[in-house]
Amino acid sequence: MISKRGIEALLILNPQNIRYLSNFSGSVALMLVTMKDSLLLVDFCYLEQARHEVKGGSDIKLVESNFFDELRLTLDGLNLKRVGFESEHLTYDKYVNLYENLKDFKLMPTRGFVEILRSIKDKEEIEKISKAAHISDQVFKEVFGLIKPGIAEVEIATEIEYLMRKFGAEKASFETIVASGSNSAMPHARPTERKLKKGDLVKIDLGAVYKGYCSDMTRMIVLGQPDREKQKIYNLVLSAQEAALSEARSGISCGELDGIARKIIADEGYSDNFGHNLGHGVGLEAHEYPTLGPNCDDLLKNGMVFTVEPGIYFKDFGGVRIEDLVVLQDDGLEVLTKSPKELMVL
Ligand code: ZN
Ligand code: ZN
Repeated sequence: MISKRGIEALLILNPQNIRYLSNFSGSVALMLVTMKDSLLLVDFCYLEQARHEVKGGSDIKLVESNFFDELRLTLDGLNLKRVGFESEHLTYDKYVNLYENLKDFKLMPTRGFVEILRSIKDKEEIEKISKAAHISDQVFKEVFGLIKPGIAEVEIATEIEYLMRKFGAEKASFETIVASGSNSAMPHARPTERKLKKGDLVKIDLGAVYKGYCSDMTRMIVLGQPDREKQKIYNLVLSAQEAALSEARSGISCGELDGIARKIIADEGYSDNFGHNLGHGVGLEAHEYPTLGPNCDDLLKNGMVFTVEPGIYFKDFGGVRIEDLVVLQDDGLEVLTKSPKELMVL
């Protein structure tokens, strides 16, 4: 992998990439990977945890003072010069510090090496993600009973996060979205004190983390019989979502799949109201490679876990999004989100 660009050692800075390669789940560490070895640098706070968690033959080294000092000492002993680093995961200040410490080395920015490896999940990872998706389904089912006029968005969101823990999740995989009425027009709305009322569309977007792996799903509820316009928008989003699900397969490009859903929405005149990507990869992070958006040439492959989540949003009126988490496998697409998909009327 790393020899391709003449890189002799790769410095891993993204904690999730470190976790993927070593199983170390702490938030502060550096990892150095060469053609022969890998080394995890941790400070005193994480030394014991690293000894417990690290698998796969990585050596662990205690950092006594400064991470980059220790890194230089290590590199000096390895007799190599060309060091790649994850440019997306380094602040400018830390880059300056790294540069000062590694003046005698050639620093080479890299992007996506580990993220691309992470996008293909093995059986064990798929099991963890399936469990995280199952927890989300259980939470959604349970919280459904609480939704009624007069309850505030934040109350529902708090209950969702409590239920996730109760059903075995470590935490929410992102800030839970409960958006009602006109708030649902914001794709990433934060739950507010707004109380639900009759006629509201309510968007619930939630995800759980199980053994480090995330899930992500969105469902819509309407309080009272929906008017014809709400039902029409809902049906349109659902048909766009189902078309994309039925075409998702190994070898199709992310952009092409996005285009299938987008065309169905555009053909009804709502292209300006679907302003985000069709979906995204999910794994150790709730949003990771690949991005399923227009102009994305990356191909979907077996082992990828991603979301399919078209939406239509109108200022003041509100918005509709339907999101499933799916996995591509040798025998086709499996939808991991099992919650019912018809518009739920309360
Ligand atoms: Zn979501
Ligand atoms: Zn999502």
